[in-house]
Parts: sequence; C-alpha cells; structure tokens
Amino acid sequence: MLDPQERLAHLIEHLNDAVYTVDTKTLQFTSLNPAAGTLTGYSSEELIGVSVASLIAPDSLPLVKKMINQKKKKDLPTVYEVELIHKDGRHIPVEISSRMIYEDGKPVEILGIARDITERKVAERQKEIFFSLITHEIKNPLSSILMYTQLLMKKAEKEEDAKELKMLSVIQSQVDAITQLMSDFVEINQLQVKKFSIKKEPFDLNEAVSEAVTLFHKKASKHRILKKGKAKRFVNADRQRIVQVIINLLSNAIKYSQEGSTITVSVDEEKTGVTVSVIDQGVGIAKSEQKAIFDLFYRIKVGKHSMIKGHGLGLYICREIVLGHNGKIWVESEVGKGSTFRFFLPNTL
Ligand code: ADP
Repeated sequence: MLDPQERLAHLIEHLNDAVYTVDTKTLQFTSLNPAAGTLTGYSSEELIGVSVASLIAPDSLPLVKKMINQKKKKDLPTVYEVELIHKDGRHIPVEISSRMIYEDGKPVEILGIARDITERKVAERQKEIFFSLITHEIKNPLSSILMYTQLLMKKAEKEEDAKELKMLSVIQSQVDAITQLMSDFVEINQLQVKKFSIKKEPFDLNEAVSEAVTLFHKKASKHRILKKGKAKRFVNADRQRIVQVIINLLSNAIKYSQEGSTITVSVDEEKTGVTVSVIDQGVGIAKSEQKAIFDLFYRIKVGKHSMIKGHGLGLYICREIVLGHNGKIWVESEVGKGSTFRFFLPNTL
C-alpha cells in the first residue's frame, strides 16, 4: 500500500495533462511528468534546465510573460490559453493553470498544468465557420428570395390573382420563419461567447412600446392589442434590445392565444424602476413549467402547446437581455386562463 505522498506522485506520473515546475528566477523547467514529454515531443530529461520561452509560440510569449509577472506579485489562480511549439514544429493550443510554490514565504517555483485543447479549438473553429455561413451565405440568398416574392405579390395583387397571391404569401411567411430562426441562432451564439453588448442610451419607453405594438398592427394580426400605462421618465437602456424583448413577448402572446382575444401591453412606473407587462388570454402555463420556459431550447410539449410550432429560443434571449440590464423577467399564469409576462428594468441601469 502506497502512502499518500507516493500515491500523489504516482497519479501525477500517470496523468494525461502535463505537470511541471519552473524556477521563478531563471524561468527554466525544474521537473516534468511524462505527459509533458508526450505534449511537446521532448523527453522530460531533455527539458530540464530549458527555458519556458523556447517552447512557447512567439504570438503567445507576451501573454506568458505577463501572467508570470502577475503571479510573482500575487498568486491568484490563473487559467489561460497559449500555443506551444512541438519538437516537430507543430503549434499546439494548450490551457495553462498555475500556482506559486513558496519556501520560507518566498516564491521559488511555479507549478503548472498544461492541457492539450486541440479538439476544443477545432470545434470552436467549426462553430465560427458555421455561424459565418449562416450570416453570409444563407441570409443573403434568402433576402433576395424575399424581395422577388414581394415583387411577384405586388404583381399578383394588381392582376387580382388571389390563388397566386396566397401561394406567394406562403413562401413569404416560410422565408420569414427561416430568417427569424437564423437570427435567433446567431444571437444565441453571441450570448454564449459573451460577444453580446448592451448599448445604453436614454429613451422614451412609451414610444418603444408603441413601435412594437404598431409592428403587430401592421402585420394585420387578428388579435386586439391594447396599450396601458405610461413611463414618466426616460429609461437608460439598449433601446433596440428592449424593443426586441417586447416584440418577442408580443409574438408569443399572439402565438399562444386565440384569434380575436385581447393582448394588453402595460407600462408601470415604480419607485425603483419600470415594469413592462404583456398580458394574454391564451392557453396559459402550468406552475411547474413557469421557470423552465426561460431556458434555452425549452418547450412545453403537452396539451395545446404541442400543436404550436417553435424552437424554445425566444424567452431565453429575452431573459439574457433583461439580465444584461440587471433586470428581472418572470411569468404569472394559469392554465386555460392566460399568461402575463413581466420584465422590470431598475432605475440604476
Ligand atoms: P417557442 O415559442 O419558440 O417555443 P419561447 O422560448 O418563446 O420558444 O417559449 C418557450 C415556451 O414557453 C413555449 O414553447 C411555450 O410553451 C411557452 N410560452 C411562451 N410564451 C407563452 C405564452 N404567452 N402563453 C403560453 N405559453 C407560452
């Protein structure tokens, strides 16, 4: 039976990740496990006494130097990505995490772990290519299909060809649906890689609500959409994104309630901020589902919900936008009676 110290050494010896120590003064390797050899192509013995810098790709060197200097000042746990140069010349992306080793209170060595992240990087690159494909290669042809469809619709309207007009409007709504789905996907990708920025500016929330409501009036929705209440002050928020939240909530209210029913958008000024509510008289949401519906890809698959198409993206986007403003979003609902989606934007945005 090995003692704990020996067991630990045994573990490090057999770990897939490279484990090494570096002298803080010379920045040369002082010890390495066998995985460090596999990662770099050199044996551990070959690397002892070799400077760390000689294994780092030139582009990554400034970052490594910066991290080591920071570490000497204060030993906070750090994780960062760099590229190593393998013995055969290949560049290998690795994730480094390191801690300082002290002797008599003085920093003497850096203990590091390097993990090969080639596969992760390939997957990230594929994802990037996929999203740029969506944005450029698919969106552009779709917008020209839409443009020509609309031209043909005008022609059919003039010629009073109802049959053709109906077929063309099916094309138009299908193209709209794909375009919307793609922009939701791009948006979610941005949210997940934190590229998503909130551009705040003071604006009139009442006008923004009216803009969203008018859009649905124009779409000749068969619902009655009413506006209630008023914000007395301007809000300091990302206007475009807040309008996007209201549009998402309104389109859900329309989707999940019967034609002819009433939808109310209400703006309520409070002491600490402003609440916008979208109230419908639709199918409603069971209490047990009310939290999960804001999760990515979550859809209710029972009852009347199962007959309505969707992708479970809209409410997730709404929640991320509202949280990005330090706000709150929630739903109050009863099955068969309707739902009220509310979001609150604090004054101190
Ligand atoms: P989608 O509508 O595309 O499925 P959402 O993220 O917008 O995606 O909504 C998630 C789920 O929440 C929907 O599948 C639906 O079941 C439910 N939901 C959203 N809005 C309403 C509403 N106004 N009334 C009833 N159910 C709703």
